[in-house]
Amino acid sequence: MPARSAPTKSTPTSTAPKGPVEKALEKMGLVRDIDLALHLPLRYEDETRITKLRDAREGDMVQIEAVVTHNEVTFRPRKQLIVTVDDGTDVCTLRFFSFYPSQQKALAVGNRVRARGELKGGFLGWAMLHPVCRAAGGDLPTALTPIYPTVAGLPQHLLRKAVLAGLAQAELSDTFAPGDLRQINDQALWTLREALAFLHHPKADVALSTLQDHSHPAWQRLKAEELLAQQISQLHSRRVRAHLRAPVLKRVVAEPNDSPVEPKLPVLLPLYESLLAKLPFALTGAQQRVCDEIARDLARMVPMHRLLQGDVGAGKTVVAALAATICIDAGWQCALMAPTEILAEQHFRKLIAWLEPLGVTTAWLTGNQKAKERRSRLEMIASGDAQLVVGTHAVIQDKVHFKNLALAIIDEQHRFGVAQRLALRSKLRHEGMEPHLLMMTATPIPRTLAMSYYADLDVSTIDELPPGRTPVLTKLVNESRRAEVVERIRHQIGQGRQIYWVCPLIEESEALDLSNATQTHAQLQASLQGTQTPGGQAAVVGLLHSRMPTEEKKAVMAAFVQGQMALLVSTTVIEVGVDVPNASLMVIEHAERFGLSQLHQLRGRVGRGTAASACVLLYSTGDSGRLGETARERLKAMAQTNDGFEIARRDLEIRGPGEFLGARQSGEAMLRFADLGTDTALLQWARREAHLLLDHHPALAEKHVARWLGGKSEFLKA
Ligand code: ADP
Ligand code: MG
Repeated sequence: MPARSAPTKSTPTSTAPKGPVEKALEKMGLVRDIDLALHLPLRYEDETRITKLRDAREGDMVQIEAVVTHNEVTFRPRKQLIVTVDDGTDVCTLRFFSFYPSQQKALAVGNRVRARGELKGGFLGWAMLHPVCRAAGGDLPTALTPIYPTVAGLPQHLLRKAVLAGLAQAELSDTFAPGDLRQINDQALWTLREALAFLHHPKADVALSTLQDHSHPAWQRLKAEELLAQQISQLHSRRVRAHLRAPVLKRVVAEPNDSPVEPKLPVLLPLYESLLAKLPFALTGAQQRVCDEIARDLARMVPMHRLLQGDVGAGKTVVAALAATICIDAGWQCALMAPTEILAEQHFRKLIAWLEPLGVTTAWLTGNQKAKERRSRLEMIASGDAQLVVGTHAVIQDKVHFKNLALAIIDEQHRFGVAQRLALRSKLRHEGMEPHLLMMTATPIPRTLAMSYYADLDVSTIDELPPGRTPVLTKLVNESRRAEVVERIRHQIGQGRQIYWVCPLIEESEALDLSNATQTHAQLQASLQGTQTPGGQAAVVGLLHSRMPTEEKKAVMAAFVQGQMALLVSTTVIEVGVDVPNASLMVIEHAERFGLSQLHQLRGRVGRGTAASACVLLYSTGDSGRLGETARERLKAMAQTNDGFEIARRDLEIRGPGEFLGARQSGEAMLRFADLGTDTALLQWARREAHLLLDHHPALAEKHVARWLGGKSEFLKA
């Protein structure tokens, strides 16, 4: 019997309330024995040794065993417990700012104790702040003590107990192809059982660094396992998809009217060509290429599953519009979904401007529409009158029934959860068919990485910006020079330019000292008093933040888009997609608090017109007087390059790809242990092994995926 068997549904005993430990475990997704066994330590503490103070060095994490020689509570400068201990080689002061009476008693003079903590040197001799103490005596453990990731209310010792019980019960038989050569990176691969036993209980003599950087053979095994699960599930869903059917959407080609006798009748061009003819610009080579890739996919009877990546401003929207025309020309419906209302509305405006003059009927769908308007839109969608539907999450709600959805486009796909993508795909249940799926992202990942990691995704890349863009000049400016920045804004407004001012967060945590957008707005309004636009009007300073009612947000955005507002102070709601070519300066306040790709996205809002544009990264060093290492790296990268792929590469370096891909690209943290930046050999192995298993040992493949992904595996189809 597993330790925590699935609750049997009918018997009354099984409805006994769950204890706090079970609840906390469940919250962390630790339900099955195998989940617990695969819950690996973040780090280890070494309690296996006693260090003599004589041999210790400042800054060491040590455990000492010593006799208490002094114990006193002082109140100046604040209440604290001060204990002096002597281990026969030297003395050390233990200091506690918060403590229980029982702790004080356990450290009574004459008691022999073990204290573990970071050793600080100093004028007054050795000291430890809040060491972990226990009575001396008893054997020292022979293994390192694992420290697990946990949640509030679940202390380490209870979690440890649960993990060890899970490990003892879990079924850990091998799921790799039998007889396969078990060598990766010239290392013989450990078995899963060996690897887990070791990682939960490493011998004290292991080099800790190999555990920390995951280079230890036990980690190699786990990373191989994890990558294999991910590859199998993606490969599997690609194979499943190959058997699915989607509407065949062939690009319609116009019949030339060459007849010498017939009068030139107005030729009814297909939408695709009409749109191309109507655009005020020619497609770039890269746009042309990705349009062809998409058109090829749409003409097949297998559903497309394509990621369109392109830097901010690369021109993805027009590619989406052209894809939509292919679909509409073929007599089917197309839907476009964006993560925020502002962004969805921008798309909507642009698409109507392009497509309605060509006779396309569009419908706008959002969460806060009036009931009557919404009903009429839903009818248009159900009857097929609406050929193109644009909106937010509202597009995937249950009540929305399409007549014949054939192409679903998702902008900024990483901001949607996997479940939402699945919901969109399920919107066409028409004779067993699925819609084609085009996902767009401005957070590109290096192409080779994308290709090998996303076994179930075809990737199109726009790697060229439209001509005539002036690169954005990025400057790092210390907060202390804020006044100069405001002067520059005044000058820009006088030139008829528009400016964004971005603040990191809204309200609340005054403790965190974040700029409050509301306050910044008021200040800027005051400092820019009397500034005039070239037309002689007083400069309008607007405010946009996420807590404003939608109508108000829209009005502010519209005023900025139409040029009636000179300066827009905003939180990161403008992050994606907003397109105001006349905006040529962006100031980002507390830039040190943003992630690299977020900064890049923000910066992409300027440099969209022909005017020379700039981005000022205002940073504050806080009390310490200097920036943290990663913040400095990020800001430096921003100043050095405008290239989204280069930014993505640096981001990968700074943050580590687990977080990068997991959280941002798939909407779910999928890789916990492996690092795509460095584990390329393991990834290659996992790709091969996944093919091998699916072709020759499907039962093992299934078992492996169930073990690693459990109930989540169905989501991997998305
Ligand atoms: P993103 O890829 O960030 O979504 P957009 O689709 O918003 O970029 O395009 C950015 C701007 O570039 C828009 O104003 C768009 O009309 C314009 N644009 C797109 N393609 C071209 C092109 N080939 N030539 C000139 N301008 C273009
Ligand atoms: Mg866009």
